[in-house]
Amino acid sequence: MRIDILTCLPKLLESPFRESILKRAQDKQLVTVQIHDLRDYTTDAHRTTDDYAFGGGAGMVMMIEPIDRCIQALKAQRTYDEIIYMSPDGELLTQSVANQLSLKEHLILICGHYKGVDERVREHLVTREVSIGDYVLSGGELAAAVLSDAVIRLLPGVLSDESSALTDSFQDGLVAPAVYTRPAEYRGWQVPPVLLSGNPAKIEAWRHENSLDRTKKRRPGLIKED
Ligand code: SAH
Repeated sequence: MRIDILTCLPKLLESPFRESILKRAQDKQLVTVQIHDLRDYTTDAHRTTDDYAFGGGAGMVMMIEPIDRCIQALKAQRTYDEIIYMSPDGELLTQSVANQLSLKEHLILICGHYKGVDERVREHLVTREVSIGDYVLSGGELAAAVLSDAVIRLLPGVLSDESSALTDSFQDGLVAPAVYTRPAEYRGWQVPPVLLSGNPAKIEAWRHENSLDRTKKRRPGLIKED
């Protein structure tokens, strides 16, 4: 998989891809993440990527030209499955959206800033718009990092234990069961004894029951009414 991220603040995206699982995924060549500075696609001496809004009002708007030039340069090299604008009013990022995107080969993510991007980017250049939640961030960079993380960890070979992503919350319509590690007792707080029993069938049954209980309490909407 390859993810190209378009931004006017590339530094904001450096560290999320330089650590831990996302770094290892790139080192293992399971994914290529390329950050593009939109200033490199401007034509003026000041490398301007934003301008005042037509009609007035507070806040700058990101111009279409650098975004279009960057997209065209990328499209000349390969075919993209999705060109996604990170947007608070887009389709909500869910595990199911992450699953769908993890099956794609080439993605472009566009990060807005200020008041957002010129609407013509959304009308003519993008194939999809994704939000990471009903709140407004100052830029799309953190949202793009969140989407990339959710997608990359699903790629085969990225997580060391292949089954690990499958046992995470939402994959089977349930939230994940509680997990514990050493010590078995801390300040008198005990680990459920079944987890120390060494009996895989009993442990599996406990985890399933715990998942169901937690889903009913925390995310009752996930349990389908028959
Ligand atoms: N004026 C816009 C918000 C702009 S916020 C509005 O009211 O809808 C600036 C940029 O941050 C956006 O262009 C978008 O790329 C990004 N952004 C903000 N909140 C986001 C969210 N919840 N999910 C994804 N991207 C978001």
